[in-house]
Amino acid sequence: MKAVAVVPGIADSVHLREVPRPSLDEVPDGLGVLVRVLQVGVDGTDREINAALYGAPPDGSDYLIVGHEGFGQVEAVGSGVTEFRAGDFVVATVRRPGNSLYDVIGTSDMTTDSVYFERGINLRHGYLAEYYVEHADFVVKVPPALADVGVLLEPLTVAEKGITQAFEIQRRLRVWRPRRAAVMGAGTIGLLAALLLRLRGLEVCVFGRRAAPYRNSVLLEQIGARYDTSDAVSAGARDTGGQFDLIFEATGSSPVVFESMQLLARNGVLVLSSVTGGDRRVEVPADRINLEFVLGNKVMVGTVNANREYFDRGVCDMALAEAQYRGWLRQLLTDPVEGLDQYRQLFARLAAPGDAIKIFCRVARPLAVTEARVPETSMAV
Ligand code: BGC
Ligand code: ZN
Repeated sequence: MKAVAVVPGIADSVHLREVPRPSLDEVPDGLGVLVRVLQVGVDGTDREINAALYGAPPDGSDYLIVGHEGFGQVEAVGSGVTEFRAGDFVVATVRRPGNSLYDVIGTSDMTTDSVYFERGINLRHGYLAEYYVEHADFVVKVPPALADVGVLLEPLTVAEKGITQAFEIQRRLRVWRPRRAAVMGAGTIGLLAALLLRLRGLEVCVFGRRAAPYRNSVLLEQIGARYDTSDAVSAGARDTGGQFDLIFEATGSSPVVFESMQLLARNGVLVLSSVTGGDRRVEVPADRINLEFVLGNKVMVGTVNANREYFDRGVCDMALAEAQYRGWLRQLLTDPVEGLDQYRQLFARLAAPGDAIKIFCRVARPLAVTEARVPETSMAV
């Protein structure tokens, strides 16, 4: 079968290659799921992998099949699999267990191991291929009504985990009724975080670099979120201090973290999700930030990856989003690239994304599925 791969350590090595089609036998006890890949999204992690800044091949392989934002359709299942059947739409999680206690209890996203295994990123092949095989434990079903936005599930889980963790942490307060949230960054993760916060009833302000109106600011307006430029953040940090109960940082720029710290309300929680590979330094008003954190009982937490719990929640929130803001999610799928053969175009777009929100590869078209329908006669009138 065809797959898109890189040679980790060599910049711009992305290429198409012929690899053996995976087989259900690779998973013991008949618990394998063979998935025909339909769409795969790409993000900054893929860009860094192709720039040779990140990523490693599986042991014994000199290449890494990329792609961790997969969406596909079950082709076949092993004899022990009861929860899926051919035709089901699915997404597989990204990280696989290591050895720490957190891995053992199914939360490899919280691993304390220094080495971690992530499909399409580190030490495990990804999904940008015609097929993949996965253990049923790491596969999540997507209802057919969400099939056209299923490729957004993995990025959504990144926001889902951060926000769920924030609410978990705030149980320390016995009573926490957050009203105002800020999202730093209006990229894909920022937009999805804003969506989740709106679905939870918060007033949301998203800060981005570009002047409104532009596509993302209009999208935010559609879900009742406000958009402002990051100049306003600096101004806000200087003038007001302390106003947001929850802040989700997703700009990719570490200095914004310290500005965000100054915008947090008393008892507030700041969630950091940007993977910042560089070595930037900034000068900050350390005494003041510290004092306000101490006197205001504030919390800051980092978040990475997502285990299947957040994929399940993500599916529910996608359904809620479709019920509340129908068609909104689909608008994030701005830049389709047709077929694995167009991998060069896929990565070229990723290198210069312009105003793209989600760049993704349409690997194959879905096969028709018969949706389960409730018989008319059993419906209450
Ligand atoms: C992925 C996460 C992953 C992280 C670090 C992100 O792009 O979405 O699943 O944990 O990169 O490798
Ligand atoms: Zn990612």
